[in-house]
Amino acid sequence: PTTGEFWPTARRHLIRYARNDFAPTIIERAAGSHVFDSEGRAILDFTSGQMSALLGHCHPAIVECVSRSIATLDHLFSWMLSRPVVDLAAALAATLPSTLSKVMLLSTGGESNEAAIRMAKLYTGRHEIVAFDQSYHGVTHASVAATYSMARTGYGPVAPGNIIIPTPNAYRPLFERDGRHDWRAELDFAFTMADRQSVGSLAAFIAEPILSTGGIIEPPPGYFAALKQKCAERDMLLIFDEAQTGLCRTGDWYGFERDGVVPDILTLSKTLGAGLPVAAVITSDEIEEVCHERGFYFGTTHVSDPLAAAVGLTVVNVLAQNAFDQTARRLGDRLRGGLLELQARHEQIGDVRGRGLLQGIELVTDRATKQPAGEFGADVIRTCLDLGLHLNIVQFPGSSSIFRMAPPLTTTEEELDRGLDILDQALTTVAR
Ligand code: PMP
Repeated sequence: PTTGEFWPTARRHLIRYARNDFAPTIIERAAGSHVFDSEGRAILDFTSGQMSALLGHCHPAIVECVSRSIATLDHLFSWMLSRPVVDLAAALAATLPSTLSKVMLLSTGGESNEAAIRMAKLYTGRHEIVAFDQSYHGVTHASVAATYSMARTGYGPVAPGNIIIPTPNAYRPLFERDGRHDWRAELDFAFTMADRQSVGSLAAFIAEPILSTGGIIEPPPGYFAALKQKCAERDMLLIFDEAQTGLCRTGDWYGFERDGVVPDILTLSKTLGAGLPVAAVITSDEIEEVCHERGFYFGTTHVSDPLAAAVGLTVVNVLAQNAFDQTARRLGDRLRGGLLELQARHEQIGDVRGRGLLQGIELVTDRATKQPAGEFGADVIRTCLDLGLHLNIVQFPGSSSIFRMAPPLTTTEEELDRGLDILDQALTTVAR
């Protein structure tokens, strides 16, 4: 459609899939940290597309890889192997602790969690999956059953056997002692309740190391070690979903490194494709062996696709060659410093949290009561977009005022500072 016909055509033919409306702008192209609209406006992309364009948009190495692969080796029947698949599996294993050695390549996050949950069920012979009450793991059968941060009503029952525990949120603790978040008591209570709800079939716990869509919630240091212990006591597997935290985003190669808690199964998606659909499930020799003996099946259309694997391999190589874990740490410190500085001047910023280049702020009407700022946040986001910065509000019931920032790792210091300036300006304008 021409520009004049664009919106009428969009209204006539598009299914609205995200509850809110589409952004009021037509994006024509993207490059590096920016997307460009039909009026020639450059918009800083502080969400890396859908938290995925880790190397910025249209990175030359990805462009070269896709151009070469699409012309030489695109797609194969699922049992046919190609070199990029084996090379990427080995490259990923080389970045991980030795227990995480077996890899399956897929397309999306939901799909990778679906596969991880199936493997956990097959391996343990049990079916119950425990997750946080602000989790997001996808919209497919098992992954949506373990997702609690999005609308769950209207679709009938999800897969039975899902149990939730409270998300350990230091800003809004359920349990406190001496004015501090008593996460140990919270975790003990959570597992007491999980045990009571269980029908004796606990298979796995699934979590993100930092809950992104759940509100940029970083469980306190030590929490995951204690949680892993709870899992071990029940012979449950621990699945980490590193769709967003994986591959240098948080300042380490993997989000789990901060606590040194290695999962039994790891899923990667968004960042692995840096904007293209590439995902992986990674587990141990033993789990892979047992699952295979028990007839594990996940022969999807795009499993082991050579093109996707070539892209994933390029991403891993670019990250490693440029030490992007250190870049994310350095830029993350700068972002954190900038956000804390904004917090000192803007009463509405109740909390600043996250790690590396995955950070967020929570807006409140009053720092003492921590009442969510509601429409104020939505107005700030709209104003940011008008001024040339795209951030998003994470969406789960009652989260109308948590902003997520996940700029590409290739973002420059100047771009980061400009984004912070725009946010500053938008907060000031909307507060008036
Ligand atoms: N896990 C996490 C942590 C995610 O953030 C997402 C996507 N928002 C998913 C899984 C689902 O990924 P996909 O949309 O690619 O299925």
